[in-house]
Amino acid sequence: MAPHPAARVRTLAELHRAIAGCRLCPAVTPPPILWAREGHRALIIGQAPGITEPKRGLPFAGAAGRKLITWLAPLGVTDHESMLERFAFAAVAKCYPGRLPGGRGDRAPDRGERARCLPWTDALVRLCDPAVIVPVGRLAIDDWLGPAPLSEVVGRRFERDGRIVVPLPHPSGASSWTNHAGNRALVELAVAQLRDTLP
Ligand code: SF4
Repeated sequence: MAPHPAARVRTLAELHRAIAGCRLCPAVTPPPILWAREGHRALIIGQAPGITEPKRGLPFAGAAGRKLITWLAPLGVTDHESMLERFAFAAVAKCYPGRLPGGRGDRAPDRGERARCLPWTDALVRLCDPAVIVPVGRLAIDDWLGPAPLSEVVGRRFERDGRIVVPLPHPSGASSWTNHAGNRALVELAVAQLRDTLP
């Protein structure tokens, strides 16, 4: 089997160039969305872009991003620009998976898409070397912490491979988890963990 193209990249600029041409998954809609600059010390890993992100070429550019900004306000995040200043961004799948049949929300990336896209995230972590990883949503949390109920991991801080991992639920309107006051309190606790941890 040919090596994954992510294995060849040696700089963030090479990573951006290489992933822009990635068409490994036939069922998704490019372009891949990845955001990282030299000096980013914290990386947010979401699930997948929605319909808005490919149009703007930026992560969390739609309604979920607006909710994430409100969650991150205690860190001094006031708008999309300040969030991009503070965090690098990747996703479990970096291309838009498309709508679910029947039109009820976006399709979650499937197992093959996740496996094909993971080496790009690994390359970003290798090159950016973030001290803090924020997996956002069930799929990204599974990759970093393994399967566990959100209520058991959100609000806590973990260490994996020398990095601090602080999970958050997905801010998408499709998730009802944060409708419960107790769960919103866990999100506030998670952001407080980030405030105490971010370099
Ligand atoms: S989802 Fe990831 S692996 Fe699949 S085509 Fe997009 S960038 Fe490539």
